[in-house]
Amino acid sequence: MNTKSLKFAMGLLTSTFGISQAQNQAPNLIYVFPDQFRKSAMSFWDLPEYKGAVNTKADPVSTPNINKFASESLVFTSAVSNLPVCSPHRASLLTGLYPSQSGVPLNCISTRPFNTLPQSVVTFSDVLASNNYDMAYFGKWHLDFPTPNDPERPGNYVDERRPAWDAYTPPQKRHGFATWYSYGTFDEHKNPHYWDSEGKKHSPGEYSPKHEADKVIEYLKSRKDPGKPFAVFVSMNPPHSPYNSLNDCMEQDYNIYRDKPVSKLLLRDNADTTMKKSKSVRYYFANVTGVDREFGRILQALKELGVDKNTIVVFSSDHGETMCSHGTDDPKNQIYDEAFQVPMLIRWPGKIEHRTDDLLIGSPDIMPTLLSMMGLRKDIPKSVQGSDYSSIILDRNSTAKRPQSAIYFYNQDGEKSSDGLVQSYFPARRGIRTHQYTLELTINTKNELVNTKFFDNNRDPYQLVNLPVKRENPVIQNLLKEMSLWLRQSNDPWYKQKILSDWISY
Ligand code: CA
Repeated sequence: MNTKSLKFAMGLLTSTFGISQAQNQAPNLIYVFPDQFRKSAMSFWDLPEYKGAVNTKADPVSTPNINKFASESLVFTSAVSNLPVCSPHRASLLTGLYPSQSGVPLNCISTRPFNTLPQSVVTFSDVLASNNYDMAYFGKWHLDFPTPNDPERPGNYVDERRPAWDAYTPPQKRHGFATWYSYGTFDEHKNPHYWDSEGKKHSPGEYSPKHEADKVIEYLKSRKDPGKPFAVFVSMNPPHSPYNSLNDCMEQDYNIYRDKPVSKLLLRDNADTTMKKSKSVRYYFANVTGVDREFGRILQALKELGVDKNTIVVFSSDHGETMCSHGTDDPKNQIYDEAFQVPMLIRWPGKIEHRTDDLLIGSPDIMPTLLSMMGLRKDIPKSVQGSDYSSIILDRNSTAKRPQSAIYFYNQDGEKSSDGLVQSYFPARRGIRTHQYTLELTINTKNELVNTKFFDNNRDPYQLVNLPVKRENPVIQNLLKEMSLWLRQSNDPWYKQKILSDWISY
């Protein structure tokens, strides 16, 4: 055998070995979910390839890394966060349960002692950890009721504010995440802090997405057991508020938007450019671009380490951001698409074909779907309420059953004790989103219907016209029927208390 043919034979051997190694090795997972990231804040939506995939405009943002990632991914057009605020989404993501069952129906804060991720629940990360995954969490957690457990000052809260928002998560509440670099909730983008695996506090004094990308890359490069698959969750706080000044974003990113009139940035038919908040759009978009860059650095590191092919990468968010639409200052916790819908892109080279899909995938579906894709279907806890859509993701021609709608939840504080602690939650609104329609019903504390929202999203993609809701309308009848199915399936208080039973047949 001459040198050339020897090289050829060895090349064959290496590539054959390479293939079998990839086939045998469990896939890695990187799940990146910046907080409050609008689905529209990804500029690829305006590229010719995506024409008709959604009927709203892309925000005029610079997102080159997300755009490239989209071109390699399955891009969901209609993914939702079923209860679009922080903690309830995060709990559903990790437990596969709806907010009424996850233990977290409201945002976590020190006035809501019942509202915390239970230690006993078997989470997405618990399942992966028990399947030999090396688990790491970076960034915002926001799943624990804050208690006076500051590791450096025992008996004190880590947050001086009252009520306390920020929290320290002790090792016994980390649900399988062996590598930990996280905090509860803290909103200073250029002055973040984290507690590491040993409970030591770090205040790096730099832009949090950059710092977190650095830590993720450091983790990837220095894994003690590279033979073990890894699962990494990264929750960057930007583009969440604050978004008011250069304290909140990087100047290089702000400069892209600095000289553009607000009217050229808030292009939507439903945006009010006269709102006080409207100037925030420059800082919000700057953070979108900052997150894009740091996400790109993580992708580049995967490539350089040669693990990109065997790593499932997800880019999503915990909820959207209304950003001056509908005249509201509240960025989230609303059924409007801009709060309810989220980015959801999944890349797995050679396994998932690049395309768009209008699957109405929701927060509790992510855990069973990804576990199944990772070969762990048998380990999905029986209690999980979300659906496994892996067959639809892995096969574009799949005939698996698709949901006709997605359920929406809105809760608020219920009864309070004499010391002001919240004892329960009140399920004030429930809604439904099909591909065409949005319907929301709001009740008062006597469980009477007090308000409705009803949009035809085909004719009115910016949800400008709240249509009248008439019980006899066959469209309304169908939507109420869908809603009834979801309320029953999620074992929701509306189902248990048969709320609005003159409207909804349970
Ligand atoms: Ca959030």
